[in-house]
Amino acid sequence: MISTVQEATNLSGEYLAGGTDYMDRLRHHLVNENSIDLNGLSGLDQIETEGGKTYIGALTSMFNVAQAPHIRQNYAGLAEAAGGLATPQIRQVGTIGGNLTQATRCQYYRHPHLECTKKGDASCGGRDGYHPYGVVFDNGGCVAPHPSTLGMALYAYEAQVEINGADIRPIADIYGDGSNHHRDHLLGKNELITKIILPAPVAEKATYFRSIARARAEWALVECTARLVIDGDKIQQAFIAVGGVAAVPLRLPHVEAALVGKSATAESFADAAQLAAEGANPLPQTGYKVPLLVNTVEETLIRALG
Ligand SMILES: Cc1cc2nc3c(=O)[nH]c(=O)nc-3n(C[C@H](O)[C@H](O)[C@H](O)COP(=O)(O)OP(=O)(O)OC[C@H]3O[C@@H](n4cnc5c(N)ncnc54)[C@H](O)[C@@H]3O)c2cc1C
Repeated sequence: MISTVQEATNLSGEYLAGGTDYMDRLRHHLVNENSIDLNGLSGLDQIETEGGKTYIGALTSMFNVAQAPHIRQNYAGLAEAAGGLATPQIRQVGTIGGNLTQATRCQYYRHPHLECTKKGDASCGGRDGYHPYGVVFDNGGCVAPHPSTLGMALYAYEAQVEINGADIRPIADIYGDGSNHHRDHLLGKNELITKIILPAPVAEKATYFRSIARARAEWALVECTARLVIDGDKIQQAFIAVGGVAAVPLRLPHVEAALVGKSATAESFADAAQLAAEGANPLPQTGYKVPLLVNTVEETLIRALG
């Protein structure tokens, strides 16, 4: 069994962490390489602090991210996202590293007889087919939204990822701008996420909220992590990220800018949330997500304030 990061990155194949996505793709004949089992790597399932920052090992289960008192107290928007996704069983087994690098859940990708650019087909069957769970910011490529709830929450925390134990990159760099229609992340073959790095905590009001088609065990239609740094009743800083609407997780800088300097009231939340859908160009079956996006952002802000 592999026991060091170097051994893992020297091998050719596909990493296997909790296996909750990997095994599903194996069943659907979507894994074509040897597996490189990461579960023998020690020290990558810890949450540690140093110099004010927090380091989450890539093999930390989503359950442990959700439950760790340090994360709950200082990074509530991440803890609630980790505790709100999938099912208790998946959260126990699935890891934060696997969550960030999971493959799209689009049925055109998972079905052996349907066309999908991420499987190497020339076109996307979903574009002219069934896509009610698709994007509302359409870039002309893959119509499925990015699947990672934790990737989205980490955008709101301006987190970084450590690759192969050394190279540190902003979280947004592992996804890019969504213009690569063939991949769900931009990590190279021998690039292994080893840690997630969170900046020093600040006094904030933060939460995660998802709009969903059924109560459990489903990806969100639209999801949001909101963080507000408030002095008196004035918003000093705002960090808003959304998922379920684009090929990559999105930060909403125009919504953030509309909040800064305003009083933290329901009225300013409603005004700022209206901007969330600016530039939306929904697909024929995703128009309903445009008001859902606005309302999800507004609801998340209200809940963040408590
Ligand atoms: C019913 C259901 C509902 C779900 N709902 C949600 C949801 O709402 N939001 C959400 O985000 N997810 C959801 N999921 C997906 C689930 O969160 C992922 O399957 C899980 O996080 C993957 O983690 P894992 O450790 O099992 O990864 P694995 O299945 O082991 O690996 C997944 C991929 O990541 C790669 N990988 C794993 N670790 C690393 C690493 N350290 N560095 C580089 N590459 C790596 C693997 O090679 C593989 O390609 C849901 C799943 C199910 C079954």
